[in-house]
Amino acid sequence: MQQGTIFIVVAPSGAGKTTLVNALLDADPHVKLSVSYTTRTPREGEVNGQHYHFVSRDVFQAMTNQGEFLESAEVYGNYYGTSQRWIAEQLAMGNDILLEIDWQGALQVRKLFEDAVGIFILPPSLTALESRLRGRGKDSEETIQRRLAAARDDISHVDEFDYVVVNESLDVALADLIAIVHAQRLRLLNQVARYSALFTQLKGGSF
Ligand code: ADP
Ligand code: 5GP
Repeated sequence: MQQGTIFIVVAPSGAGKTTLVNALLDADPHVKLSVSYTTRTPREGEVNGQHYHFVSRDVFQAMTNQGEFLESAEVYGNYYGTSQRWIAEQLAMGNDILLEIDWQGALQVRKLFEDAVGIFILPPSLTALESRLRGRGKDSEETIQRRLAAARDDISHVDEFDYVVVNESLDVALADLIAIVHAQRLRLLNQVARYSALFTQLKGGSF
């Protein structure tokens, strides 16, 4: 069976990662989003099990001790982690998986899965980043300041990634994201797996 790809999407908070990822999931039903565990409190409108699995710090710690996370990290003062079991199940089914995580988690996953594709989303400017964080209207001023202060450090990790998408126009950025996923599916190994009978026939068969 064709092996799915792990796509890791990273961005400084407010760059538009969630907006872009949701648009990609709508556009491509073959990409499955990993729902992370977090100790952060839900934002208005966030649904447990859909946006995140919201858990207490005690539960998160217990899950860490039991080795349930493929990767985990402290980000902006809260803990976040990716379910190991869910990823294993999806890969076994040959699905493409999208991880919306931070750069620390991306490093951990890429150590485990060399073929994972890293995508970094940049805002068009720091001013735009700030106005998007404020415009979202769901974080306290303290949280916004904390995330802005971390943005330069987040962005300093951009050269650890395979692809960079600048989210100025949402439409252009979405088209870029779709193109990256599409290009990955056209890579030789994936095409050989998808068209194994055709390859056998064309390479070995008589015309
Ligand atoms: P992130 O997940 O990276 O923290 P969000 O997806 O929540 O960011 O986006 C932050 C805010 O910026 C949201 O209010 C969103 O609607 C807005 N936004 C996202 N992309 C764009 C864009 N290309 N142009 C203008 N606003 C955008
Ligand atoms: P937010 O609180 O805005 O939803 O997410 C804050 C940051 O945590 C974002 O950079 C987001 O990508 C990251 N994040 C979300 N889930 C995970 C996860 O499972 N692991 C890691 N390492 N980071 C995560």
